[in-house]
Amino acid sequence: MLVAYECRLAGASVTLIEKNWVGQESSWAGGGILLPIYPWRQAEAITQLVIQSHKIYPELIAQLQAKSGIDPEFIQSGMLICQNPDFNDAIVWCQQNGIAYESPSEELLGSVCAEMQQPLWLPEIRQARNPRLLKAVHATLKVMGVKIIEQCEVQAFEITNSRLQSVLTSQGRLPVDELVLAAGAWAGEFWQQYFNLGSPCEVQVAPVKGEMLLYAAKPEALNTMVLDHGRYLIPRADGHILVGSTVEYAGFDKSLNSQTHSELSQFATRILPDLASFPVVKHWAGLRPGTDLGIPYIARHPEISNLSVNAGHFRNGLTMAPAAAQLTLDLILKRKTAIALQPYQLESVH
Ligand SMILES: Cc1cc2nc3c(=O)[nH]c(=O)nc-3n(C[C@H](O)[C@H](O)[C@H](O)COP(=O)(O)OP(=O)(O)OC[C@H]3O[C@@H](n4cnc5c(N)ncnc54)[C@H](O)[C@@H]3O)c2cc1C
Repeated sequence: MLVAYECRLAGASVTLIEKNWVGQESSWAGGGILLPIYPWRQAEAITQLVIQSHKIYPELIAQLQAKSGIDPEFIQSGMLICQNPDFNDAIVWCQQNGIAYESPSEELLGSVCAEMQQPLWLPEIRQARNPRLLKAVHATLKVMGVKIIEQCEVQAFEITNSRLQSVLTSQGRLPVDELVLAAGAWAGEFWQQYFNLGSPCEVQVAPVKGEMLLYAAKPEALNTMVLDHGRYLIPRADGHILVGSTVEYAGFDKSLNSQTHSELSQFATRILPDLASFPVVKHWAGLRPGTDLGIPYIARHPEISNLSVNAGHFRNGLTMAPAAAQLTLDLILKRKTAIALQPYQLESVH
């Protein structure tokens, strides 16, 4: 949806084709933390998109909120990272990227029951309430005149002279000037089915399931996001607390596991014992668009001249989305890019 937003802002006439309903898949299911967990352990290509998006987000949110009237709850709730065996790497990463860091106060440390190892407090890290952010983007696209076709199955493409001419869908034939594949966890199989054309360049994206829990707690129960041994708590403005998440390689399967439910709730009540007195009101799973290193593909097809891809953001799709969408537009318009494109190309990912 953000690619559609950027293209429309640039003056293009945009149609978004969605096989189900927009904003219901991974982007809905995620936690909305706007920082990778342990960002200093990630590839530089991820940092580039994260930091650029960090700069874009405040103005983007203001625009979306103004155009849609929907508050995406973009909140600077900060993040407490309980264990940092690679503390020096963390500090260097924060310094190099202009991310504020502090030693957590005694009060903050006392607010959670976690074993601490060189804890780190990142006070300026933000979150967005992703289902609301998606509603805000969706409503903004409508206001801007983007045509959104839901429940629309792609059935075939007409390709002549190395150009996509049209897409045949369950709702008819649509002419194509430029096409961007942004199908999340489905992008790999979609590419394989329609665009592989014997080329050595593939989009290798596979689904990686993540399960989450939601507690209906009170607003004062927790004030900051907490990361402990790879799992996290995210407090929303109204007191709900998200607990995440699992990383499961289980194909396109979103079924829920009672064992996972109890592991996540044990984690949550260990960190915040008061949560035991609040109900779990939701348990769900989403399918991340998984890639080996978590680096998305933002690239042109090597042979089809008017086809691009923006997919494979794995665990950091919301965090990287604004910069990734702008980069996609730059690529289409052959503009100078704020970030070097090379790491996101099809060839270099393999
Ligand atoms: C449990 C969990 C926690 C997460 N936490 C965070 C977090 O805290 N921060 C963060 O930055 N990221 C997080 N993520 C990752 C983030 O959600 C994803 O990287 C991101 O949502 C990917 O966005 P996307 O638009 O590529 O995919 P999606 O949001 O999945 O959208 C892809 C869309 O394409 C549609 N589609 C697929 N195939 C077709 C087709 N053939 N025709 C038409 N439409 C099609 C789908 O129906 C879907 O609507 C999390 C993910 C999960 C599952």
